[in-house]
Amino acid sequence: MRIKVENVVKPFILSDDDYKKIMDVMLDSFNQGLGKETNAKAAVKMFPTYVRSVPDGTETGKVLALDLGGTNFRILLISLDGQEVNMESKIFLIPQAIMTGTGEQLFDHIAECIHKFMKDHDLLFHKIPLGFTFSFPCRQEGLNKAILTHWTKGFKCAGVEGHDIVQLLHEAIERRGDIDVNCLAVINDTVGALMSCAHEDRKCAVGLILGTGTNACYIETLENTELWDGDTDEPHQVMINTEWGALGNDGSLDFIMTDYDKQVDKHSINAGQQIYEKMISGMYMGEIARLVIEKLRKAKLLFNGKGSEELSERGRFYTKYVSEIESDGDDSSFKCTKQVFAELNLTKYTDEDCRIVQYVCSLVSTRAAYLASAGIATLLNKMNRPEVTIGVDGSLYRFHPHFHDLMEEKIRQLVKPGIKFKLMLSHDGSGKGAAIVTAVANRLALEKEQ
Ligand code: BGC
Ligand code: MG
Repeated sequence: MRIKVENVVKPFILSDDDYKKIMDVMLDSFNQGLGKETNAKAAVKMFPTYVRSVPDGTETGKVLALDLGGTNFRILLISLDGQEVNMESKIFLIPQAIMTGTGEQLFDHIAECIHKFMKDHDLLFHKIPLGFTFSFPCRQEGLNKAILTHWTKGFKCAGVEGHDIVQLLHEAIERRGDIDVNCLAVINDTVGALMSCAHEDRKCAVGLILGTGTNACYIETLENTELWDGDTDEPHQVMINTEWGALGNDGSLDFIMTDYDKQVDKHSINAGQQIYEKMISGMYMGEIARLVIEKLRKAKLLFNGKGSEELSERGRFYTKYVSEIESDGDDSSFKCTKQVFAELNLTKYTDEDCRIVQYVCSLVSTRAAYLASAGIATLLNKMNRPEVTIGVDGSLYRFHPHFHDLMEEKIRQLVKPGIKFKLMLSHDGSGKGAAIVTAVANRLALEKEQ
């Protein structure tokens, strides 16, 4: 029985050589993305962000921030005064119909939420700078000009790809005519994570998101950034939004893709895209586990062959179930696992069923953690700094019981000897990071006016 189970789950166990090969593929893809001649064809786009330096702690001002592209859409009001950061925020819903509707509907909805938020905070007659954490791949042409290349995760609004999202936002604000906000900066959530950690730890030079999607950014020299067309003032560096989720879109990860990964991709709204992301992030992990569990059940290796309607439903096995099931650890009462089974309307099971489901979850999440580690180790080796802090955010990293430890162990194994690193949880990066970048942009704009 155990042997039959092993045969089904085997493809999730990758060897040291596999991870080394993934790192080679990764480095190759990074370099292609950075190269002027190769960028157009590269799977991983390595977008320069126009954010050049980490905060120095002197940032001040009141900023409105939008955070779109994670688990929730949020609006934040942030006051910065050096190390002192105050924020108030509110979560707004983006209805499913809007996530897959038109761009105009999406931005009208966002403008309406901004109006509501400003009204609630007595800001309606104030002019206030806005920073937009927009967590999708954008080719930036300036700090406040960001052209969406592809929607990812659950979004697919018509008429936005190929357009500047700042312009679309400003147009929606103008259509209303009752608020006065000016978007000064667009940042990726990875940049937000990096900036907010760097606010406390100057060694922070990588931002990582492990949430609904996955991505990383890092500080690169201008010399290595062939596509850089901005100014060349000090410091000679720029943050690169790698958009590593797209690794494998060119087939380079086919050698590790399982049948389950292929099914997840096939049924997604962006088939053929974000291949690496689909093996790692929260939007997909539960579904991968569900497909394996269903495979085992149909082979009568689980639940004596009897499942439930819920278990057979696509997307119904949430990634948080993976975290909950694994948090039972060695607890032989399987408290959380049994609760998940109850939610899935599974009533007849043995302790062995619990153990097998737990094992499946741990293999799927461990592969995800190791894959992300291979990506981080590739970046650390490439940057070749003696000591780097990685600012991490995202629901998967936050709520999974072992993700942090698994990553520490694997990065240590894959990184060049002598490189020190630390994984640091970023607090409210998408808000704080946007606020820092926007406050600096606002100060520079005011200085120019004078
Ligand atoms: C997006 C990235 C984002 C990541 C994490 C991906 O799907 O393409 O821009 O940083 O998700 O939110
Ligand atoms: Mg987020």
